[in-house]
Amino acid sequence: MNDELRIMDIRGLTIKKFHESLIKKQFSASEITKAFFDYIEKKDTEIGAYLRLSKDSALSQAEVVDEDLSAGREVDILAGVPLAIKDNILIENEPTTAASKILANYRAAYDATVIKKLKQAGAVFLGKTNMDEFAMGSSTENSGFKITKNPHDLERVPGGSSGGSAAAVAADMAVAALGSDTGGSIRQPAGFCGVVGLKPTYGAVSRYGLIAMASSLDQIGPITKTVEDAEILFDIIKGKDQLDSTSVESQIANRKSQIADYTIGIPKEYFVAGLNKEVGEAIDEAIKKLKSLGIKFKEISLPHTKYALSCYYIIMPAEVSANLARFDGIRYAQISNLKSQISNLRDIYFKQRGEGFGEEVKRRIILGTFVLSSGYYDAYYSKAQKVRKLIKEDFDKAFKEVDVILTPVSPTPAFKIGEKTDDPLQMYLSDIFTIPVNLAGLPAISIPVNLKAQNSKLKANLPIGFQLIGKHFHEADILAVGQQYEQVC
Ligand code: GLN
Repeated sequence: MNDELRIMDIRGLTIKKFHESLIKKQFSASEITKAFFDYIEKKDTEIGAYLRLSKDSALSQAEVVDEDLSAGREVDILAGVPLAIKDNILIENEPTTAASKILANYRAAYDATVIKKLKQAGAVFLGKTNMDEFAMGSSTENSGFKITKNPHDLERVPGGSSGGSAAAVAADMAVAALGSDTGGSIRQPAGFCGVVGLKPTYGAVSRYGLIAMASSLDQIGPITKTVEDAEILFDIIKGKDQLDSTSVESQIANRKSQIADYTIGIPKEYFVAGLNKEVGEAIDEAIKKLKSLGIKFKEISLPHTKYALSCYYIIMPAEVSANLARFDGIRYAQISNLKSQISNLRDIYFKQRGEGFGEEVKRRIILGTFVLSSGYYDAYYSKAQKVRKLIKEDFDKAFKEVDVILTPVSPTPAFKIGEKTDDPLQMYLSDIFTIPVNLAGLPAISIPVNLKAQNSKLKANLPIGFQLIGKHFHEADILAVGQQYEQVC
């Protein structure tokens, strides 16, 4: 393959197209893997999506696929597909840092369950992607190592915390990626980068081997170029896992036979002052297209929405403070250049944690320790759990009337690098539409409104996403509506 051909091959490759081309022998798995690395080497100097590449292991994975093909063995739809993996998901023997300096020297001792499943399907792992440290953030600016830029505008953030994964897919530096979502970290960067992001129902995908942020909220999910690809990846990674007691056997519901049988709810609490005009217009455009498919719409109310952010910023840091206690500077490797400054146990804790964790992580550990401390537990943590229940009940009630709920993903398109770094509260507000979904444990997908920007009447140059929320384990509904949307936009 010459250079031109390589780039043409890579551009716009979906899992589906990749598989067809591989089977037709338009390229071999090894050839295309090399082509991806060549392209990443050029392109990623300006984007910064990857923290590390794993060329040798990727090429050996690709060779196995080529051997299978030349021996005439049947291969999985994911065979040879080059994937990017968020750096909080463990791949055996590979460095895994969650973009934190405290894990700079850590190598994973085992595969996450999702990785095991993807390996069995023959996927190729190109490398690990940048993220906000321990997945805390909305812009990938909280990475302990570097920032990532939005491929649509290099002055803007790609969103976060799975910003590296979303940017890699949007810039054709991977066919698809995995991210994790605790309060919006798959859906918001997907929205900012113009790609698709699916957060599965809590429990649908095993969290074993995901570096925990807030265990009652975290889920792993796909970031892809199409809704169809999101479904392909989800089908492979989902299911009960003995190693994660919160995972359940996929009791995944079926989609309805007719798209016109769907009723979509529009929650009035999500369309209030503060919603950026372009986002509002884009959402109207998406609704119009869905109506043209015969889908019915209904206004609904989710009255406790206004408490979701406060509720999340109590429950999440409480769980963060417990989960991050394990990073004591002794286990999971030490920061080597601090060793000379350490003379006793206290030094280890203070120096390793003090230097190893970034500002945002420390802020949340302190906040979480405070809300869990005796005397404050009832006032904060217990109360937040009660509010969480009310938020969940709002959704249960709404889902008696509608099958799917549609909202914006974020109040604004991608913001400028540095715009919100001095004001954590402004940063937290960018997750206002994604957080209630995690508190309720529901599945939700972020889909670009202007999938084919050239056909769109929208003025906005930056990608804007809309969110479809489904009932528990009804991924099939949001995927079905999303796939129909893709056909008409
Ligand atoms: N941006 C949110 C936060 O900082 C969500 C993060 C996530 O989903 N991992 O908490």
